[in-house]
This record gives sequence, structure tokens and C-alpha cells, in this order.
Amino acid sequence: MNQKYDFTQALAEADRCLLCHDAPCSKGCPANTDPGKFIKKFRMQNIKGAVRTIKENNILGGACGILCPTSKLCEKECASSHLDRPIQIGKIQEFLVRHGRDIGFKVFEKPEATLEKVAVIGAGPAGLSCGAELAKKGYNVTIFEKMGEPGGVLRYGVPSYRFSNEYLKAELEDIISLGVKFECNHPIKEEGEAEDLLTKGFNAVFIATGLWDAVDIFDKKPEGVYNSVEFLSSPHTGRLDIVKEWIKDKKVAVIGGGSVAMDCAGYAVTLGAKDVYLVYRRSFCQMPAEKNERIESLENNIHFMILNQPKDYVTDVNGVVTGIKLIRTELAPAQGSQRRSPLEIKDSEWILDIDLVVEAIGNKAFENSNKLYPGVDVDSRKLIKASLSNCRTSKQAIFAGGDIVRGPSLVVNAVQDGKTAASTIDSYLKQRRD
Ligand SMILES: Cc1cc2nc3c(=O)[nH]c(=O)nc-3n(C[C@H](O)[C@H](O)[C@H](O)COP(=O)(O)OP(=O)(O)OC[C@H]3O[C@@H](n4cnc5c(N)ncnc54)[C@H](O)[C@@H]3O)c2cc1C
Ligand code: SF4
Repeated sequence: MNQKYDFTQALAEADRCLLCHDAPCSKGCPANTDPGKFIKKFRMQNIKGAVRTIKENNILGGACGILCPTSKLCEKECASSHLDRPIQIGKIQEFLVRHGRDIGFKVFEKPEATLEKVAVIGAGPAGLSCGAELAKKGYNVTIFEKMGEPGGVLRYGVPSYRFSNEYLKAELEDIISLGVKFECNHPIKEEGEAEDLLTKGFNAVFIATGLWDAVDIFDKKPEGVYNSVEFLSSPHTGRLDIVKEWIKDKKVAVIGGGSVAMDCAGYAVTLGAKDVYLVYRRSFCQMPAEKNERIESLENNIHFMILNQPKDYVTDVNGVVTGIKLIRTELAPAQGSQRRSPLEIKDSEWILDIDLVVEAIGNKAFENSNKLYPGVDVDSRKLIKASLSNCRTSKQAIFAGGDIVRGPSLVVNAVQDGKTAASTIDSYLKQRRD
């Protein structure tokens, strides 16, 4: 597991920074968290200033420090990579946010909410970021959340061994301190309800509902087969003891090769599974999960069943899953720069005996989600059509961002969408006022 920095380690790492004039790392951050600036401040011993830079630019700066795939973002651009290795920006960022809290430093003063009412639907990273930015500007913000507590995937998806609830609570306190109001256990679910908020005293609506329907592998789903959402959210939905009971000393298969599949496999290990298998139809190198996540999974004794395509489930007389019928695959010959696709090998079917399966091949929008906003254009996947440069939808006063617009993405992108939407909503409402 990736160890967190203490003060000495964080400063030693910051001391490696070349203090580039043009700070390419800052350009690599989708949310403009500005690592070039906060690392420089840290180097100058201006620790509160460094924390302020992070949190003012990115209200979920601590979460991003832990969860960002930095090797593809800020650290990819770091000039030190050309000398030896990039500065560990994510770890410095996480340290600074945590240290700021430890010394009791409050970045934000509660602003006066004198401006219009804005509704945000969904308390995941996009909704939280939009709500915080609008509150800072003086808007009266209410976030409607269908679950019992805010956080979205940060609470109900990412396992707590990677991102703890205490950490989330601290990030949320900063947002609450800005005066953002939360209405949890309040799904916006009736036909046209999202748009109706405009007739109920709200002057603009930001939709940030994310993707919460699992993509199924087969039409049938026998007993003992679960999806990643129900599996990973079990600590928060009162089902942890049941899931523990299912998993303990059992053989568990996770189907998928992305970050969510790695999370499910890791979570199964922490719950005491005897053996955990990751079943993936392509090669190890083709797995969408980050390299460090794959290595961590290997170190966690997870068995990689790569180049195996699931064909069907095997069940006992009671209809409970006992195995997965797999067929071995090989990669098609390379054709230019195209990704080599997996080809099934004739007569190579075999059965992997297991006690429980978690399907983790992706999430999609709720089948009927667009009924909440019939006036808003969606695409064939039910994702809301909105411009990433301003988060405007096809309907005036309704804005959208995060995964429900982008498809499965990243926390840092959702944070940026929240910031973009807040800025557009502010311009829109100012214009209306004038
Ligand atoms: C298991 C898992 C692990 C991940 N790990 C990482 C990672 O390590 N790093 C990374 O950068 N990204 C990761 N991601 C992706 C990242 O979490 C998402 O891109 C991000 O959370 C999207 O934010 P969002 O606000 O758009 O949506 P969400 O986080 O999905 O939040 C949407 C919120 O809207 C609420 N909602 C939905 N419908 C309604 C409704 N009708 N009324 C009211 N509320 C509603 C939901 O309950 C939820 O709280 C992971 C995703 C998953 C699933
Ligand atoms: S928010 Fe993420 S991408 Fe941006 S600087 Fe911080 S760790 Fe890097």
C-alpha cells in the first residue's frame, strides 16, 4: 500500500522540484490545482499559503492527492522525469491538506449567501465542487442527494482502505463551512422533477448524478453474482456483515480489468476471501487499470486469469453460482497502431470453480434517468449532452457535468466540471440580473 508522507518526507520531495518557470506540472492538472505554485510556497516554508492554493483551486484537493492517476496527469509533465523520476505531486498535495487540518488551519470563512438559490443534484465530486464554488461567490446552494450521506463514489464506491471515511468527512467539513446545504435521502426521481426545481424557487440547476447502473455481462444473473456497485457500497448500506459472511474463506472471481475491478478484488481480500481471481479477456498490459494498481493487486496475491473470456455461469441445482465457463483467448496479430483484439481459441473451454462472482465491467446511466429532465438532450447512452467548456445543456438554466456527461471518468475531471459549471451559472445569473 502507498504510504503517506510525513513532514520531512514531503519537504524532501518538494526540495527535488526544479521550480520550472513555466510549471508544466500545473498545465497537466485538469482542475488547475496549480502544483507549481503550492510546491514553491511549501519550499519557501509558507505552508498555510500552500494549503490555501490547493484548497482554493480544488475543494477536494486532499481526495485528488490520494486518488488521481498522477502518472498520466501532473506528474507526467514534471521536468524531473527527464533527470530521474517525477516529483510525487499527489503525495505532497495529500500531505499538505492533511497537515493543514492537523494544525487547525481554516482556509475558508463563511461567505454571506446574498445571491440567488441554485440547486445541485448529486453530492459526488462534481456536485460538491460546483456547490462549494457557488457558495464562495455568495449563492444560496442546496445539494439534493439520493443516498443517506454525501460523497458519491468517494463514499459508496472507492473502498475505505484506499480513501477513508474520516478523510472524506474532513473534506466535506470545508464545504459545509462555506454554507452549502445538503438534503440527503432526497432523490430527485419524479418525471420532470429536475427541471421543475426551476419553478420551485431555484434559479439554476446543476445535474451531477454520475453513473450508478452496472453493465451486466450476461442476461442471467444467478444467486451469488453481484455487481461492483452493490459489492463496494456494502459498508454503507448495512450489508457489510452479510457480504463478509459470503466472502470469508471463499473463492471469489472478479470479472473486469479496470480500476474498479482492482478495487473489488482488493476489497474481497480485505474481507477474508480464500482466493481472489481477476478474470480478463485481454492481456495484462492491456488492462485499463493503472500499472501501480495492477502491481499492488499482484502483491496482494490476487490471481490474474488473463486471456480468458467468460462465456456463461455454472450453477448448482438451487441456481447458485458454482463456477464460470471460460474460453481461452489469444491476441490477434498486430495491425498498425490498433489495439490487438482477443480471439477465442477453439475447444479451449474450461470451468473456474468459484463461490462468488463480482461483475466489474463498468457503470452506465440509469435506464430512465433522462425522465427527470425531459427537456435536456441526451445521447444514445443516456449521457447528458453538455459542453465541457461551459457545462451548458440544451435547456436554459440547466447545467450538467461529471460522469453523467463524460461517461466513466476521474474525480479531478468532475471537480473541474463543478468549477466550470459554477462559473457559467454565475455569468448566466449575473446577465439575468442585469
Ligand atoms: C469503484 C470506483 C473507484 C474509482 N476510483 C477512482 C480513482 O481512484 N481515481 C479517480 O480519479 N476516479 C476514480 N473513480 C471515478 C470517479 O469516482 C468518478 O469519475 C467521479 O466520482 C464522478 O463524479 P460525479 O460527481 O460525476 O458522480 P458520482 O461520484 O457518481 O456522484 C453522483 C451522486 O449523485 C447522486 N444521485 C444520483 N442520482 C440522483 C438523483 N436522481 N437524485 C439525487 N441524487 C442522485 C448519487 O447518489 C451520487 O452521490 C472510481 C469510480 C468507481 C466506481
Ligand atoms: S489534483 Fe490531481 S492531477 Fe491535479 S495536481 Fe493534484 S494530484 Fe495532480
